[in-house]
Amino acid sequence: MDDFKLTPEQPKKRRDQRAYLKAWRAKNPRDRRAYKAAYDAANKDKIAAYREANKDRLRAKKAAYYVTHRERLLARVKAHSDSNKARILEYQADYYAANSDKVKATVAAYRRANPDKKRYLDNRRRVRKANNGGSHTIEQRLAKFALLGNICFYCGEAKKLTVDHKIPLARGGTDDIRNIVPACRSCNSSKNARTAKEYLANQRRNRVRVSPLMT
Ligand SMILES: [Zn+2]
Repeated sequence: MDDFKLTPEQPKKRRDQRAYLKAWRAKNPRDRRAYKAAYDAANKDKIAAYREANKDRLRAKKAAYYVTHRERLLARVKAHSDSNKARILEYQADYYAANSDKVKATVAAYRRANPDKKRYLDNRRRVRKANNGGSHTIEQRLAKFALLGNICFYCGEAKKLTVDHKIPLARGGTDDIRNIVPACRSCNSSKNARTAKEYLANQRRNRVRVSPLMT
């Protein structure tokens, strides 16, 4: 730390000073971290009081930071979970073993409160299993359902809608948004492993009313 003194030879401009400090910090990372840890430990109460007094401002700042640095933060989380996969899985398994009832109740409550998300997650699980590639977001799916009138793609009824893959996963269909349409539960299950084209042809053959969008 002794070599860090401002001397007359030191650059005068702010920008240069900043570059100098940055270089110094890069050269002394551990000292800086140890210094901060010692400072934090010695000033716990002061820091807690500051945080409490500035709670709302700090929360807003953090939220704004998240918005502007989202990609970088998510990449960091992913990098961490990728390089600690085994340890994280072990921790999760231990936690689940000790709290399985609590976890099940939380998951069930979340899914009840978020039916769209539940459908999205259920679909994603099936898609991963099929491993045909492609993906879409929950926003894309909601937009496409809205575009198609939020009615069943096959019978045209405004029933409770499920995610249907026009080319079924079982026949190599992808999870790309182009392969996704809304279908009521009954059409989705009677369509089964047929493509949208095959199913609609079958319905017409049997003189079953199809969606006005399809006539
Ligand atoms: Zn239907």
